[in-house]
Amino acid sequence: MYVELPFDEIQVNTTKRRVSYFYDQDVGNYFYGTGHCMKPHRIRMTHSLIMNYELYKKMEIYRAQPATNLELTQFHTDEYIDFIDRVTPDNLHLFEREQVIFNVGDDCPVFDGLGEFCKISCGGSMEGAARINNGSADIAINYAGGLHHAKKSEASGFCYLNDIVLGIIELLRVHPRVLYIDTDVHHGDGVEEAFYTNDRVMTCSFHKFGEFFPGTGNLSDIGIGKGKYYSVNVPLRDGIDDASYKSIFEPIIAAIVEWYQPSAIVLQCGGDSLSGDRLGPFNLSMRGHANNVNFVRSLGIPFMVLGGGGYTIRNVARTWAFETGICNGLLLPKELPYNGYYEYFAPTYELDVRSSNMNNANSKEYLDRILTQIISNLDHTKHAPSVQMNEVPRDLEGLDEDLDEDMNESMDTKGGSQRARDKRVEVEGEFYDDDEKDQGEKNISNGNGIQLTNHELTEIAELNNRVQI
Ligand SMILES: [Zn+2]
Repeated sequence: MYVELPFDEIQVNTTKRRVSYFYDQDVGNYFYGTGHCMKPHRIRMTHSLIMNYELYKKMEIYRAQPATNLELTQFHTDEYIDFIDRVTPDNLHLFEREQVIFNVGDDCPVFDGLGEFCKISCGGSMEGAARINNGSADIAINYAGGLHHAKKSEASGFCYLNDIVLGIIELLRVHPRVLYIDTDVHHGDGVEEAFYTNDRVMTCSFHKFGEFFPGTGNLSDIGIGKGKYYSVNVPLRDGIDDASYKSIFEPIIAAIVEWYQPSAIVLQCGGDSLSGDRLGPFNLSMRGHANNVNFVRSLGIPFMVLGGGGYTIRNVARTWAFETGICNGLLLPKELPYNGYYEYFAPTYELDVRSSNMNNANSKEYLDRILTQIISNLDHTKHAPSVQMNEVPRDLEGLDEDLDEDMNESMDTKGGSQRARDKRVEVEGEFYDDDEKDQGEKNISNGNGIQLTNHELTEIAELNNRVQI
């Protein structure tokens, strides 16, 4: 079943897609602490490359409103959100019990501005989903998101709040079936767990498995109850290269899309699956990693691109910039434009991450075995589950806090006033050419979009209460 093809140059379909890119210039200022691998600064480096490659001429750039506490409790518990909102390095001693319960400490330290950082991350993914929902974007990008390890009431693996789950919950208001693809080197455990009993979200994670954080994500973990066969795990070994990855990724995603028929996709683009990552043992080049984005884009289904891990930050910035180019139908040239972080890219000053000569521990026989098993499991999903979708009033859940006379034209999928939240913010305004971007506030109108019934939203809330797997 497994056929390994050589990894050829990426061919980008140049058909125009409307891309909404979310960036908050504050994000690069948050600091996990000296010696900590996770560096939000890489998001600012990525942004600098994106702007200096002039991708702002191709896509719309937004700063999302930070998510509110109320919005965050669509997935997380009130107690956990209250803690994240209030805790600081200075008052940490008042939260001794909570530190243990909520698992903050070494991997997930309490740092200055922690709550704000989390809300920026979640706000971008939720607004990205809202723009996919109302049809104003074909692709939404949020590199501050993708924090896939966070649990309902627990921090894990450098992640505190799960922007991905919140974004998917947003998509489920309109989309009957959502596919989540995780290409981080670590298993996407937080997202899988949230939807493990649900057939409206198919999760598919490609990750290093075997004596590696977080330890979950075996081939045999396929979901339970109604969600059986709707979780896919692709456990990989060290050193996977571009050709092997492509040859396992593409047939699995193609089979899921053919049989499950998702109407929206969320692609987590963790950069720790790149060759030379400080934590990850894979051997993907920049192009091998970007092939995932290009392949998903070629499916013609609206999708979100999120960040995630990635600990050799110059390579993460290179790859996410290159992938942003692909979202816009471009292969960015190799020569780096001058940018604010130019010295980070020494000595090559090129937009490239190369594979190394490390051994690929994924034999063809091994990959054939897992591909055969996964396709056999997916056979059970051939009849896509249908969902009764009904139009619901926009003040569902009593979340609206700012209804005004424009409520009919300003359908909000996220809860608060869309008009208030969706003010377009021009980041680094000096980059803009006035004639190429229309100015001013934009209003997201959801028109006659279908949303979930109260019953379905209750179901989602309930699945979040399910037992730990
Ligand atoms: Zn990771």
